[in-house]
Amino acid sequence: MSDANSQALAHYQGNFLKEVEERVEEGHWVKMCMQCGVCAGSCPFGPHWEHSPQKLFMMVMSNKRDEVLTTDSMWMCTSCYTCIVRCPRKLPITHIMHGLANYSHRLGLAPKKQPTRDVARLFWNNLAKTGRINELKFSLALYFKDGLVQGIKNALSMQAVGMKLMKAKRLSPNELFGGHKCKNPKDIQTVIAKAREIEDRRKGLA
Ligand code: SF4
Ligand code: SF4
Repeated sequence: MSDANSQALAHYQGNFLKEVEERVEEGHWVKMCMQCGVCAGSCPFGPHWEHSPQKLFMMVMSNKRDEVLTTDSMWMCTSCYTCIVRCPRKLPITHIMHGLANYSHRLGLAPKKQPTRDVARLFWNNLAKTGRINELKFSLALYFKDGLVQGIKNALSMQAVGMKLMKAKRLSPNELFGGHKCKNPKDIQTVIAKAREIEDRRKGLA
């Protein structure tokens, strides 16, 4: 069990709703859910989720901490915002979904090999280095995330697309040897480190 998770368990002592209210983005809205089911019925991914947003909110209020933080349901949210538009109580459901996903990741409880999490992590690691995304390195990191053999298969299957992108000057092999970056990447890294420090303090993860 991660230190952050043990500390959270000790701090909240079984009050998961309070934990979500204090540590998850927009989590203070959860108690406003009246379980009408509109979000569950409207979500285009509804039938494919283990738990709909409506059910997740009920589980938060019912103290089902492990089940909520280890499911991959909230990672399925595509940010289409249909639920936010339709919720009669105006809950910022999309943001809460991403907030729960981020919190479970920070506690080390998010499911391993979850594709959305993998893409988000690789995208962020790539972007945070120079302040600009390096498309070539990002694509290669994604292709090879499951090993060399799978990476070669992925790269070959996308070969035609890659060639077209290069022809249209949307992708350059030079990106492999540096590529474009912000004027002062170190400043970007300082800003990110400070933002992380503030967020960790606010969420009790410092
Ligand atoms: S639409 Fe809003 S009030 Fe209704 S179940 Fe979903 S979150 Fe709760
Ligand atoms: S924003 Fe996410 S949770 Fe809401 S309807 Fe779209 S996919 Fe479903």
